[in-house]
Amino acid sequence: MTKNSPVDTVASDVPVAGVAQEPNFGDDNPFEDMMARFDHAAELVSLDPGIYKVLRQPEKQIIVSIPIQLDTGDVEVFTGYRVIHNTSRGPGKGGIRFDPNVTIDEVKALAAWMTWKCAVVNIPFGGAKGGVVCDPTKLSDAELERVTRRYTAALINVLGPESDIPAPDVNTNERVMAWIMDTYAMHKQSASHGVVTGKPIEIGGSLGRREATGRGCMIVTKEALKHLGLPVRGSRVAVQGFGNVGSVAAKLLGQEGLTVVAVSDASTGVYNENGIYIDEALQWVRENRYLDGYPGGDAISNEELLSLELDVLLPAAVENVITRRNAAGINTKVICEGANGPTTAAADRILEDKGVFVIPDILANAGGVTVSYFEWVQNRSGYFWDEKTVVDRLEAITVRSFADVLEVSKRHSVDMRTAAYMLSVERVAAVHRIRGMYA
Ligand code: GLU
Repeated sequence: MTKNSPVDTVASDVPVAGVAQEPNFGDDNPFEDMMARFDHAAELVSLDPGIYKVLRQPEKQIIVSIPIQLDTGDVEVFTGYRVIHNTSRGPGKGGIRFDPNVTIDEVKALAAWMTWKCAVVNIPFGGAKGGVVCDPTKLSDAELERVTRRYTAALINVLGPESDIPAPDVNTNERVMAWIMDTYAMHKQSASHGVVTGKPIEIGGSLGRREATGRGCMIVTKEALKHLGLPVRGSRVAVQGFGNVGSVAAKLLGQEGLTVVAVSDASTGVYNENGIYIDEALQWVRENRYLDGYPGGDAISNEELLSLELDVLLPAAVENVITRRNAAGINTKVICEGANGPTTAAADRILEDKGVFVIPDILANAGGVTVSYFEWVQNRSGYFWDEKTVVDRLEAITVRSFADVLEVSKRHSVDMRTAAYMLSVERVAAVHRIRGMYA
C-alpha cells in the first residue's frame, strides 16, 4: 500500500499536517460564528429583511454515501458533503476537504465564507464547499482515488464549469483535482477543464495557483504593516500550519525581509530568534513528513507559538485556534488569517480590546480563489497566461481589495472583519436586488 507522499502536505491548499483542533464549546461552532458575523454586518448595512432570510440559508445541501472497496477487499462507506451557499454572483466556488472532523455545519460555514470571500475580492463566483469524512493518511493512493471518483460521480449533476467548481482545500491537492476532472469528463463525454481549479498545469491548471493563497497572505500583511506605520523589514512573524498556505506565506514573507521566528505543524513548533530557513524546513518535511526533529530551532508547542511576542501572527491551519481561552495571551500587532475561521467570534472581541489588527480570512486568504478565477478564465478562453501576468493581476486585486475593506472600516469605524462582511454582504445583496426573485 502506497501511503500519500509527504509532498502532498505541501501541494494541498491547506496543510495535511494541520494543527490539532480544539473541541467546539458552544460559541466555537463555525456556522454559528459565521452567522454571528453575518448578522452583525447585516444590521450595520440595514440589509433588506427578505434578502437577509435568503442569505441565512444555503441554496443546496447535499449529503452522499461513498461506498468503496478497500485494498483489502472489504467495503467501507464514507460520508460526503457539498453545500452551495449562494450562486447569485456566479457559479458556486470552493474547495473540497478530506478530514475525519468534517461536519455539515462546518461545510455550511465554509460555503458561506466562500460567498463573502468571492464578493470581497469582487470576482464573479458564488460560494460552495465540500468535504468527505475520512482520514486520508490512513488510505492508500488507490483508495483515495476511489473515494474521489465516487464522490464526484455522486455529485455529477451538481458540479460543472457553470454551476459549481471545486478546488483544493484541507488534505486535497492537484492530484485529487485531476481525478475529479477526469471523472467528470468521462461522465459528460467532454473535455470540461473548467469544472475544477487548482489542477496540475499539464491539464489546464494555472501558473501561480499553488502559491496563490500564501502570496495573497504576504501581500495583505505588507499592506497592513504599511497602514499601521510598521516596518516590513525585520518585523517578526510566526506561522502556524506548514502546509501549502503556511509554508508559501512564510517563504514569501521571508523574501520580503520579515524574520520568520517560528513555524509549526501538527507535530511541533520550531522557534529561532534569528529566523527559520524555510527552504531547509520544507526539505525536512519532504523527507520526514513532519517538522518534528527539525534542527533549525528550538521545539515549542503550538500554544507557545500563539503567545510569542510578534509583529505578525499568521494562523494557516484550521478553524478555532484563537479562542476566548487563549486570545488574552496573544502578543502580536497583526493577525493575518491564512486559514478559514481560525479566530472565533468570542476571541474577536478580546483581540479588538487588545488593539490587534486582524486581516480577516475572507480577505487574507482570498488569493487562492482569485487565481482559481484566473484559472477558470484561462480554461474558458483556452489561452494561458505567463506567471508574471498571474502574479501582477493577483497583486492588483489583493491590494485593491485591502484598500476597499480598509475604506469601509474607516468610514464606519469598525474592525476589518466587520468591514469585509459589510462590503461583501452589500455586494451580494445588490445582485439580489437587481436580479429580483424568481417565482
Ligand atoms: N479552498 C480555498 C479557499 O478556501 C480555495 C477555494 C477555490 O479556489 O475555489 O479559499
